[in-house]
Amino acid sequence: MNQVIEFVKADVKKEKPAVESLGFGKHFTDYMFVMDYNEEEGWHQPRITPYAPLVLEPAAMVFHYSQSVFEGLKAYRAKDGRVLLFRPEKNVARMNVSCARLSIPQIDETIVLDAIKQLVELEKDWIPDGEGTSLYIRPFIIATEPSLGVHPAHEYKFMIILSPVGSYYGDQLKPVRIYVEDEYVRAVPGGVGFTKTGGNYAASLKAQEKAEELGYDQVLWLDGVERKYIEEVGSMNIFFKINGEVVTPKLNGSILGGVTRDSVIELLKYWNVPVKETKISIDEIYNAYKNGQLEEVFGTGTAAVISPVGELGWKDVAMQLPHAEAPDSIANRLYDALTGIQLGKTEDPLNWTV
Ligand code: PMP
Repeated sequence: MNQVIEFVKADVKKEKPAVESLGFGKHFTDYMFVMDYNEEEGWHQPRITPYAPLVLEPAAMVFHYSQSVFEGLKAYRAKDGRVLLFRPEKNVARMNVSCARLSIPQIDETIVLDAIKQLVELEKDWIPDGEGTSLYIRPFIIATEPSLGVHPAHEYKFMIILSPVGSYYGDQLKPVRIYVEDEYVRAVPGGVGFTKTGGNYAASLKAQEKAEELGYDQVLWLDGVERKYIEEVGSMNIFFKINGEVVTPKLNGSILGGVTRDSVIELLKYWNVPVKETKISIDEIYNAYKNGQLEEVFGTGTAAVISPVGELGWKDVAMQLPHAEAPDSIANRLYDALTGIQLGKTEDPLNWTV
């Protein structure tokens, strides 16, 4: 599959939203990337066309059996005007990992990376200017074959849409309140927890609603078997600093391998800060908290980069964690380092930006 990307020009361009009203994923740019799959031609007809609604059969398999995968990454505008992507090859590779589990045909990673770059280049005026803003990139694949039989579809659509997004924080990291969910589970061994597929998110909504009712921002998931070991947060991976050492749950098949998670581990190693990927139980965390050894808790993900956790609620205990937002916290240091690299403000010692 080595095809030129066809281009269909938009007759009218949209008005760009004001920076203050951006929010997350509410506005979409003028163009999108599309390619189709069928068994005769494989992935074919890559094209950039005006952003527009799709026409799909009501019987399209994605509506019934949720055969779909997606990704999320960002394009940043550097001070010197360059447009930067942060480790985009990691997202494209992860998409193929998701495809393999969801029985979706593999994509050509070179073509998809090139499509991301061409679409972002075309739409670079949509990258907002304000502090902390960026252009969110959402590649996704849906099963389009009209068929109600439960089997892998024979037809798919791959698309990329872009959305200018606002700053997650103001000028300072804001701590989040996290609720340890011990009733619902997100993923089980042998399931699809390590993939970015819509069903994982649909299944998480009930617990998210419950956490919000209890006054929390997001859910911390425990393992689906013993409900004892820590997995990840709603849309973030999780890190703990205990007695000087940073620990995060080891990837076990039910946790999503975050690009930010990997970058945090690599950066800490580069700085010679002790970091370990291991199985961590919620009891261990509570004991460390009681002994005064739980120094920081923070989440990592593309949306917020680093999210200090100010409170961890578990059963009837509320663990208060004031240190994560302190200026000398590891969370703050990581946030400054990662956003510095992403925005081209600082050196990029591990060559992550493209
Ligand atoms: N876990 C889940 C369930 C997520 O949806 C995300 C966001 N993609 C993450 C972790 C963090 O991954 P990343 O650092 O690649 O954004």
